[in-house]
Amino acid sequence: MGKINLLSFEVANLIAAGEVVDRPASAVKELLENAIDSGADKITVEIKNGGTSFIRIADNGCGIEFDDLPTALLRHATSKIKEASDLDSISTLGFRGEALAAISSVSKIRILSKTQNSDLGAMLEAHAGQVLTHINAGCQEGTTVIVEDLFYNVPARKKFLKRDATEASYITSIVEKVAMSRPDISFKYIIDGDLKFITSGDNNTQNAIYAILGADVAKKTIKVSRASDGIKVEGFISAPNLNRSNRNLEIFYINSRYIRCGVMVKALEQAFESYIPSDKFPVCVINVEIDPLYVDVNVHPSKLEVKFSNEQVIFDAIYYAVRTALATSIERPMLFNEAKESIANTPFKALDREAPKNEKIVFDTNGNIGTENKNKTISYIFNEPKTEKQSPPTKITKIELPSDDDFVPDFLRKYDTSSTLKVSSSFSPIIPNENKEEKIEPKIDTEKAEIITEAKEEIIEEPKKQKIVPDYKIIGEAFNSYVIAELGDILYLIDKHAAHERIIFEDLKKKISESNPSSQMLLIPIEVSLASEEIASLNEYKQEINKTGFGFTLNGNIALIDEIPSEIDVGAGADAFFTLVSKLTDGKEATKSRYEVFEKALYQSSCKAAIKAGRIYDNEHIKWIVERTLTLDNIKYCPHGRPVAFEITKHFLEKEFERIK
Ligand code: ADP
Ligand code: MG
Repeated sequence: MGKINLLSFEVANLIAAGEVVDRPASAVKELLENAIDSGADKITVEIKNGGTSFIRIADNGCGIEFDDLPTALLRHATSKIKEASDLDSISTLGFRGEALAAISSVSKIRILSKTQNSDLGAMLEAHAGQVLTHINAGCQEGTTVIVEDLFYNVPARKKFLKRDATEASYITSIVEKVAMSRPDISFKYIIDGDLKFITSGDNNTQNAIYAILGADVAKKTIKVSRASDGIKVEGFISAPNLNRSNRNLEIFYINSRYIRCGVMVKALEQAFESYIPSDKFPVCVINVEIDPLYVDVNVHPSKLEVKFSNEQVIFDAIYYAVRTALATSIERPMLFNEAKESIANTPFKALDREAPKNEKIVFDTNGNIGTENKNKTISYIFNEPKTEKQSPPTKITKIELPSDDDFVPDFLRKYDTSSTLKVSSSFSPIIPNENKEEKIEPKIDTEKAEIITEAKEEIIEEPKKQKIVPDYKIIGEAFNSYVIAELGDILYLIDKHAAHERIIFEDLKKKISESNPSSQMLLIPIEVSLASEEIASLNEYKQEINKTGFGFTLNGNIALIDEIPSEIDVGAGADAFFTLVSKLTDGKEATKSRYEVFEKALYQSSCKAAIKAGRIYDNEHIKWIVERTLTLDNIKYCPHGRPVAFEITKHFLEKEFERIK
């Protein structure tokens, strides 16, 4: 070690520059933030060669006074804060007073600026932080910063840069995010002479999303808007038919500042669970408005990470905002929409049905829905109101060992090695049907076994909230998989497996919060042999499992199931139980809450219990699935995030067949 030196201003700046400006994208981010802080409503970003040879950011904001220009290049020179206490209430993106110092110390910079009050503009040129020129110059109001030859005096940093195209992609990612954070500003972005995008600045976030992420994403978004605990969550999330295989489009802002935030990511992804496949990621553009007092943006040199005084409040705000938006605004996807030019050109048109002109949607005193015209006449959407059947018809059913090998549940194939009775298959809601020979249905043998289906709880219906069974017609079933139903002016194509899966999942989930959930008792318990980790999961989640309607006792490593949920077919009961337990065991991750693990396992279990596509089922059961699908709002996507049903309107068909123009 030698003598201790006090570093020169230039060397100190070079070292500090490394923190703020590590690549062209971070320079662009800082300059963009300055432009936004200037109050501009028009900002242009232009880059060449991935920002290494040329970056230009022009704004029409407040400008910098002639005398202030050299000061702006100094470290800790800022007009945005004065005292330590100002750090508690930062409303600008910048405040550290380091960016211009850092950028100018590692490049050749030119700043042209004019304020409203001065007649002439000013120009300052500096190389490696050394001011070369400082003169009056004619220019427009606002500021233009041109950065050339970034890192020309720090070859070591230059060596670490990636290919120009890669550096350009990092810049694009930043410009996109910043541009979406401020839909009230018109951003223009040019790469190597090509206009990449331009946003309108009309203060409509969805228009900004459209300009930046494209029509496909913008069309498939749902609005999020929720305020609670002094936190406002606003923005857009993807509908379940839109997802990504990475987190690149999970975009969050705090008070319009783009940030990366683990808590928010977690809240978003948990809210999306059961709406999209588990290996996919949602898309979002969400801004959280919060009192700056509760966030510390001063924890990261480029202010990308923030600290909250109470993370749980932020988690809840995002989680419930997203969950509410998903539950209330998801519409059944309409078939053919995407192919239709006319609709694709109007990306923001709601995909749901609108009331005909001059008519409004009304509810009568019984809560039935209809449309009311000018003469106050109501036409009921579902015609004559009837009372909905809430559950499949339950009755005493006898069961036997399956005679058809195809019908042995997977679990038995794996576990049944003895000849004693373990389980059988039958569809509990089956009602005798004429097409017997067509159906894959177990024969009934009274001597082998018997089950009793009983509702342990009387369903107390609230008279006012009576649901209406819509006046639908089942047209048929295509490929033994897709039920075609007609209702009003809409034709529905319902994936019977996906719909059933969702119905079971929703019903079972609901039961967890009920005080006395229903189940069906088995006279002969089903045996399932389990691994020791599975026994541990079973004990851990005993309460939830019992609530869904599974009753069991443990005998060593064997679970004896004597009750199964009334929603689940007896034949599928063991498989559903086994799936639930094994997924509870696999699904445990440190990042997941108890409830999340259970919910996920439950929908995997629901999949096992649902009727299968490609098989023929009883008409009554198909009818019940159609009714539930048409009456329950949240049955639009199966728990894996696939659509449950598509809609085709009569209007669409008439147009396609050229009956109407
Ligand atoms: P900070 O943004 O943290 O204040 P910077 O080094 O980025 O620090 O900028 C220093 C100062 O230069 C700012 O506080 C501001 O007064 C001025 N400035 C920089 N860019 C602009 C701009 N585009 N328009 C107006 N003023 C600017
Ligand atoms: Mg700044």
